[in-house]
Amino acid sequence: MIWNNKSKLLHQTNRIAVFMIIMLFVIIIAIKGSSSFEVSRIILGPHYDVFHDSSNKVTVEDLIDGMYDQYFTPSTQKYPFFWHTTDKIWLRLSLDDLIQGNTSGYVIEGIDKQDHVDMYFVQQDGSYTVQKGGIAENDSQSLRYFSNLFTVEEPDVTEVYIALYGELPLMFSSFLYTDNGFLENVITYKFSTGLFYGFLLGLMLYNLFLFFSLKEKAYIFYVLYMFSFIAYQATMNAFDLELVGHALPDWLLFRTLPISCTLLVCFMILFGKEFLELKTHLPKHNRVLKIFLFLTMLSLLSVFTVPNLEAVNNVITLLTVIVLAFLWVSGLTMLLKGFKMARFYMVGWTVLLGSMLIQGFGFLKWIPFHPGLYEIVPATAACFEAIFLSLALGDKINLMKKEMNDKLEEKVQERTKQLEEAKQKLEQLANTDRLTMIANRMRLDAELDKQLQTVKTNGTSLSLIMLDVDHFKAVNDKYGHQVGDNILRETAHLLKEKVRKTDLAGRWGGEEFLVISPNTGTVKALELAEELRQHLENHSFKEVGKTTASFGVATYLEGDTPSSLLSRCDNALYVAKEEGRNQVAFQGAV
Ligand code: GH3
Ligand code: MG
Ligand code: MG
Repeated sequence: MIWNNKSKLLHQTNRIAVFMIIMLFVIIIAIKGSSSFEVSRIILGPHYDVFHDSSNKVTVEDLIDGMYDQYFTPSTQKYPFFWHTTDKIWLRLSLDDLIQGNTSGYVIEGIDKQDHVDMYFVQQDGSYTVQKGGIAENDSQSLRYFSNLFTVEEPDVTEVYIALYGELPLMFSSFLYTDNGFLENVITYKFSTGLFYGFLLGLMLYNLFLFFSLKEKAYIFYVLYMFSFIAYQATMNAFDLELVGHALPDWLLFRTLPISCTLLVCFMILFGKEFLELKTHLPKHNRVLKIFLFLTMLSLLSVFTVPNLEAVNNVITLLTVIVLAFLWVSGLTMLLKGFKMARFYMVGWTVLLGSMLIQGFGFLKWIPFHPGLYEIVPATAACFEAIFLSLALGDKINLMKKEMNDKLEEKVQERTKQLEEAKQKLEQLANTDRLTMIANRMRLDAELDKQLQTVKTNGTSLSLIMLDVDHFKAVNDKYGHQVGDNILRETAHLLKEKVRKTDLAGRWGGEEFLVISPNTGTVKALELAEELRQHLENHSFKEVGKTTASFGVATYLEGDTPSSLLSRCDNALYVAKEEGRNQVAFQGAV
C-alpha cells in the first residue's frame, strides 16, 4: 500500500518533469532555430563558382590571370559539399555582386571543420592578400572560435578565391556578415550553445545522481552514453576546436569526430544491452551486439593506426547505422514480446535513428546537404533521445518497483496466513486440557461468561451439569495413578460423544467435569444428565470395569452470576453424593 502511494506520487512528479522537459526542449529548439535563421547574413553557397583542380598545381595567380575561367561552373549547392577527395577545390566569389561600394567591415565565416582553407582577396588592380584558415592554421586565428573566420579589410576587394584541400571531407557552409551582424551572431550562438549543452549536461548529472542512489547499472551506461553524445555533438559542431584546439595536435583534431562517434556507439550498445536485459531475454541479440562492440573498439583502434581517414570514416559511419538499426530492432522485438519498459526506449531510439539516417543520406548526397544536418537535426534528436531514455529508465524503475511490491504483498499474505494458523493452534492448546484433550477450565469459564451474556440479552435458557467420579481415590489407591488417568480420559471421551453439538463438555478439575448446555431448561438438562449417568454406568472401563459418577444440575435463574449458578450446581452434586452417589440431583432456587 505504502509503495503504491509512493509510485503514484512518482507518477505525478514524472508527469510534471515530462512537461517541464518538453517546455525546455521547445525553448531550446526555438533558440537554436532562431540562431540559424534570424541573424542577418548571406548564405554564400549559391554565389560560388566551383573548379576541381585534380592536378593540385594551379596557383591563385593563374586564376587571377583568367587561365582557368572556362573550368569554373556555377555552384548548384547551397552548402558546398564534396566529401573526401584528393582534388583541390577552388571557389570563386564575386564580392562586387554582393556588396556595393566599400567592402571593408565584412566577415566571411566557414563553419565546417577543414584541414586547409586559403582565402585570397583580390583587389581591382589585380593585387591580393591571403588569409589562411582550417585546422592547420587554427593557432593563427586571432578569435578563438569554432568556425573559420576571414575579415574583409580592404575597401576595394572585387573577387575572392577560396582553396579547400586536405584529408577531411571537403565542405564549406559559409556566410557573409557585416561586422555588427557577426557580433550579433556570436552572441546568439554562445547563448544557445550554453543552453543546449547545459541542458544535456544537466540531464547527464541528474542521471548520475540517480545511479548513486538507485545503484542500477543501466543508469551509469546512460550517463556514459550521454557523455559521449555530448562529446560527439561538440566535435560535430567543431566545439573541440574552439575549446581545446590550441592544445591538441592537428592529427588528433582531424580524428575527434570518428573517436567520439565510436565511443558513442560503444556506450549505446552497452546501454541498450543492459536496459533491454538482452542477456536474459534475447541472448542471440546479446551475442550479436557483443560482436558489434568488438568491431566498434576495433574501429576506434583503427582511427589511430589506419592512415586512410576516408576509409575509417566510411567504416565507422556504416557501423553506426547498422548498430543503431540493430538496437532499434532489439527494442521492437522486446516491445512485441510484451516488455513494457521498452516503450519510451523505442520512441527515443526511433527519433535518433531517423536523425542519423537523415544525416547519413546527406553525407551520401541522396538528399541536398544542409548544415542543419550537423546542427538542428542531431541536436533535436539528441534532446528527444536523452529525454526519452531518461524517462524509459524512470519507467523501468517504477515497473520494477511494482513487481517487487506485488511479490512483497504475496509474501505478506502467506506470512499472515501462517501466523493465523499458529495463533489458532496456540489458542487451542491454551483451551485444551492436557490429560483428557477436552476443554479445560479456562475454556469453560469463558464459555460460561459468554452463554450468560446471551441468556441475559436473548432471554433463552441455560443449564449446567457437574459430575464427579465416585470413589476415585480408591481407584487410584488400588490400581495406581496411571490407571486413574486412563479412567479420566475414557470418561472425557464418553462425555464428549454423548453431549449434543451445542453443548460444551470440559474438565473442571481433578475428577470433576462440567457440561454447559445452552437453550436447555431444567427438564431437558435432567434428561441429559440421566443419559450421561447411564452411559457411564453401562460402560466397562479397561482394567477397572464398572465406575460410576454423581451429577448435579442447575438452571439459570434471573440475576445469576457464573459463581451463583456454579455454586447451585455444586450443591446439587453434593446432594447427589449424599443421597448415595451414581445419581442425578437438581438444585433450584433457594
Ligand atoms: P467421592 O465419591 O466422595 O468423590 O470420593 P473420591 O475418592 O472420588 O473423592 P476425593 O475428593 O476424596 O478424591 C479425589 C481423588 O482424585 C484424589 C486425587 O488423588 C484424585 N485425582 C485428582 N486428580 C487426579 C488426576 O489427574 N489423576 C489421577 N489419577 N487422580 C486424580
Ligand atoms: Mg472430587
Ligand atoms: Mg470423586
